[in-house]
Amino acid sequence: MDLYICNVCKKTYEVKPEIWRCTCGGLLNLIKNNEMVGEIRTSLPSLWRYHKSIPINEKEWKDITMGEGYTAMIPTDDGRNSYFKMDYMMPTSSFKDRGAAVLISKAKELNVARVVVDSSGNAGNAIAAYSRRAGIECDVYISDKTSPNKVKQLKAYSANIKKVSGSREDVAKAAQTAVSESKDFYASHIFNPYFYEGTKTYAFETWEQLGFVPDVMIVPVGNGTLLLGIYIGFKELYEQNIINKIPKIIAIQSDNCAPLSKAFNLGLTDYKNVKTKETLAEGIAIAEPLRAPQILEAIRETNGDIYTVNENEIKSAYQKLSDLGLFVEYTTAANYAGFLKYKKKASEIVVVPLCGSGLKSIK
Ligand SMILES: *Cc1c(COP(=O)(O)O)cnc(C)c1O
Ligand SMILES: [Zn+2]
Repeated sequence: MDLYICNVCKKTYEVKPEIWRCTCGGLLNLIKNNEMVGEIRTSLPSLWRYHKSIPINEKEWKDITMGEGYTAMIPTDDGRNSYFKMDYMMPTSSFKDRGAAVLISKAKELNVARVVVDSSGNAGNAIAAYSRRAGIECDVYISDKTSPNKVKQLKAYSANIKKVSGSREDVAKAAQTAVSESKDFYASHIFNPYFYEGTKTYAFETWEQLGFVPDVMIVPVGNGTLLLGIYIGFKELYEQNIINKIPKIIAIQSDNCAPLSKAFNLGLTDYKNVKTKETLAEGIAIAEPLRAPQILEAIRETNGDIYTVNENEIKSAYQKLSDLGLFVEYTTAANYAGFLKYKKKASEIVVVPLCGSGLKSIK
């Protein structure tokens, strides 16, 4: 049996549907019972090719999978000798499917009837899709400013949409108040560590598909669900002596919302309260990233950095990608803008995620 362990006070908990936070307020990580050893690959053409390292019963994930993951990697085609990872080619059109497929399989294993989630868009879409497929009711708390196409997608999955006016943090509070009363399963990509057991496969795939560990991973960071997954994934490979280095993580934030960048540059170990403005990169506009201590530690441990990009750089990167035939959302264009800023040595190999589809952000 896996256990939850508090990030702050190290108290452990059995994995139960109603537990999502430590009584001390700390966030929970996972201690896995069956650490995988030996060959981790199988021949399945999805993220479940690594199912031996993902702590989910076979029955559940086989019923729920939509073939997510194992996305293509293609050369950046811009003379920079690097790769895009095509994570917008997913069942719900963002990388969040990696986490949602694993988390909802876990919910099914725990016989959960209803999940609750709050999201600014893609995470809600992914959780709603996999819940529908699994026959689990899904309440999604969203801001009244969520992109219309993301709301339409939620409706298609018959999610129970709860609109909240106010900040991203107000939306989260509404969801947390609801689960505290109802004891429903909080399928939060931020709080629930099973989500990261899905996003870590991004690292496994990168290593397997390239045939080596790249030098740099460009990673967007709002709440850090892709970033921490990538870090956990490479770390697992490293600890099992499958690889001998962990790539440098270069995280990307928007100039208009950069609480982690600020903290990183000041040498702090938690996020810095900053003034924020609206940004085209709505998917990384998170003012209060709760896993900030873990995120900052991961970046520092890999000798990485955080870059910020402004609105003009995002627009210009969006056009450059479109000119390459790649139609992504602005949040993802920010990743490419960050990559273009990175002073790359000629021999270095960098991986850039194209992890959100442009179709969702068409107004
Ligand atoms: C969710 C999301 C992000 C940001 O991920 P975090 O987990 O908040 O760091 C970036 N890009 C896209 C397309 C997303 O859906
Ligand atoms: Zn605690």
